[in-house]
Amino acid sequence: MMRIGIGFDSHRLVPGRRLVLGGVEIPVVKGLLGHSDGDVLCHAITDSIIGALGMGDIGKHFPDSDLRWKDASSIEMLRHIVEMADTAGYEAAWIDSVIISERPKLAPYMESMKAAISKAKIPQEVINIKAKTNEGMGFVGREEGLAAYAVSLLKRKS
Ligand code: MG
Repeated sequence: MMRIGIGFDSHRLVPGRRLVLGGVEIPVVKGLLGHSDGDVLCHAITDSIIGALGMGDIGKHFPDSDLRWKDASSIEMLRHIVEMADTAGYEAAWIDSVIISERPKLAPYMESMKAAISKAKIPQEVINIKAKTNEGMGFVGREEGLAAYAVSLLKRKS
């Protein structure tokens, strides 16, 4: 039996914060504001898995009021949800994702992101990450923030 879920996330870019995407720190001037490290890719993937499980959303599992997840690594949050899927009897069959970011070019970081995400117990062989700009339009185009989408297909563990 298969289950599918969609995830979206966006965070504001501000000076003085680290930019962490897919668990990889990217050396730029502005980073992502958030209760955790603000990793939009991990949050989109996390929400897509929660959606596939029919277990609400990321805010329900990681509320801003919960100090346990303050400045948390989003890879740890993702791992928590992957373990929840495992307990429910599901594993990732395929995850596709898109990061929307004006700059820097993210292609050089893709393999490191997959390696970092595999620490959340998602095999690298079942993840695809894409990146695109927003052609200068909207909040991404003005470099006010970043966004990411993800779709997760879960299958019953054999
Ligand atoms: Mg988020």
